[in-house]
Amino acid sequence: MARVVVVGAGLAGLCSALALADFGHDVTVLEAAGTHGGQLAHGPQPFTLPAVLRDLFRKTGRPLEKELDVVPVDPAVRWVLADGTEITVPNASPSGARRTFDDALGRGSGAQWDAVVAHGDRSWRELRALVMGHAGAKPSPPSGTLRDVAASLPEPRLRPILESYATRYGADPATAPAALTVLPYLEQTFGVWTVADGVSALAAVLASRAAERGATFRYGVPIARPIVDGGRVTGVQPADDDAVAADVVVWAAQPSLLPPDLAADPLRLLGRLRRGPASIPPATLGDVDAVVTPAAGVTEPSATPSVRFPDDGGPAVVTYDTPEGRVRHLTPPGVHGVAAGRVTALFRRPANVTRTPGLYLAGSGAHPGPGIPLVALSAAIVTDHIGRA
Ligand SMILES: Cc1cc2nc3c(=O)[nH]c(=O)nc-3n(C[C@H](O)[C@H](O)[C@H](O)COP(=O)(O)OP(=O)(O)OC[C@H]3O[C@@H](n4cnc5c(N)ncnc54)[C@H](O)[C@@H]3O)c2cc1C
Repeated sequence: MARVVVVGAGLAGLCSALALADFGHDVTVLEAAGTHGGQLAHGPQPFTLPAVLRDLFRKTGRPLEKELDVVPVDPAVRWVLADGTEITVPNASPSGARRTFDDALGRGSGAQWDAVVAHGDRSWRELRALVMGHAGAKPSPPSGTLRDVAASLPEPRLRPILESYATRYGADPATAPAALTVLPYLEQTFGVWTVADGVSALAAVLASRAAERGATFRYGVPIARPIVDGGRVTGVQPADDDAVAADVVVWAAQPSLLPPDLAADPLRLLGRLRRGPASIPPATLGDVDAVVTPAAGVTEPSATPSVRFPDDGGPAVVTYDTPEGRVRHLTPPGVHGVAAGRVTALFRRPANVTRTPGLYLAGSGAHPGPGIPLVALSAAIVTDHIGRA
C-alpha cells in the first residue's frame, strides 16, 4: 500500500482518488478550494465517450447509471447560422444528421457531412491508442488543417459549421489539425450525454464513493509544490501548513503551477513522447467566460448547445438553456481540448508519467487534454500506471 496524495479535487483528482483508494492505497486528497468539483460547477457540460466514466464506476462499485441520471442530450447540437438558418442535429444518429443537413442546406449536404464524419472515423482510429496512453502508439492522423477539410466541402455553409469545432474551443481552424473531425465523429457515434442533475452531481458521487473506499479529503489546503528528495517525490508542501509525506503524488491541478524545476523536466508519455513547450494554455477558471442569465421564454430547458455564428464572421458563441437560466460561454481557451490548436498539440501536452519517480500528472492541463472524457481518461492512465496496492 502506497501513501498517495492527490492534489486537487476536480474531476481528475476525484477519479484518481476513487480508483487508487479502490486499489487499496492510502489516499489523501488536498484541495485548495472549500469543496470538490472544480470546473464541474459550470453549466450542464454535455460530454462524449461516456464509456470512460462507465468503466471507472463499473470497476469501483455500482454502475454509473445506477448512481446518476445520465441522459442523452437530444438534439445533440443546434447550429444557428448568421443568415438565421437553424440546423438541429439529433443525437447519435448519422442518418438523422444526414437528413437534417439535406433539409436545411439542400440535397447532397448530408452526404458531404457524412464525408466529414468518415474523416473523423479515420482520424480516431489513428489517434485512439495515443489518446488512451498506450505505449508505443505510432499514429499517422490525416495531415493538414481543419480549414483544409472545410475548404474541400462544396456547400459553403457547411464550412463555418465544421470550423466551429475549432473556433468554439478557442482554436484557429487555419492551424487546428484536420483530425479535429473526430469531434463530430464522436458526437454522432457515441452520442452526447449529460447528468440530469448537473455535472456537479457527478463530482459529489465520485467524492462520496472515494471516501467510502477510504480516501480522506482536506479542503482549503493549497499546495505550493511537490517535495522531491533523493530524485523521487516524498510528499507535498502546503502553502501554509506542515509538509505531507507521500510515496506517490498525483498532481491533478494545472501542471503550470508546478515549480519551474519540476515543470521544466522533460516528461515522457509512457516512454515515447517528449514533453512539449510550457506554453499550453491552462484551463483555469479565470480564463472562462461563463455567464448564467435568466433565459426569457425558455419553456423546455435542455443541455443542447446552441452554437451561434455572428454576422461579422467572428468566433461562434455557445449557449445552453438550463433550469437555472441561460449559460453562455465564449470560446474559452483550453476548456474542451485542442485549444493550443496546432497539428501537434496532442503530442505536446505534459505527459501523465513524469521523469520524477512517484510524481504523476492528471487533468485538463496534461495528456490527453481538457473536457470530461479526456480528463477522466488522464486519471485512468495515471491510476493504471500506479496499479494496485
Ligand atoms: C464553463 C465551462 C464549460 C465547460 N463545458 C464543458 C462541456 O460542455 N463538456 C466537457 O466535456 N467539458 C466541459 N468543460 C471542461 C471540463 O469541465 C474540464 O475539462 C474538467 O472539469 C477539468 O477537470 P480537472 O480536474 O482537470 O480541473 P479542475 O476542474 O480545474 O480541477 C482542479 C482542482 O485543483 C484545485 N487546485 C488548483 N490548484 C491547487 C493547488 N495548488 N493545491 C490544491 N488544489 C488546487 C482547484 O481548486 C480545482 O478544484 C467546461 C468547463 C468550463 C469551465
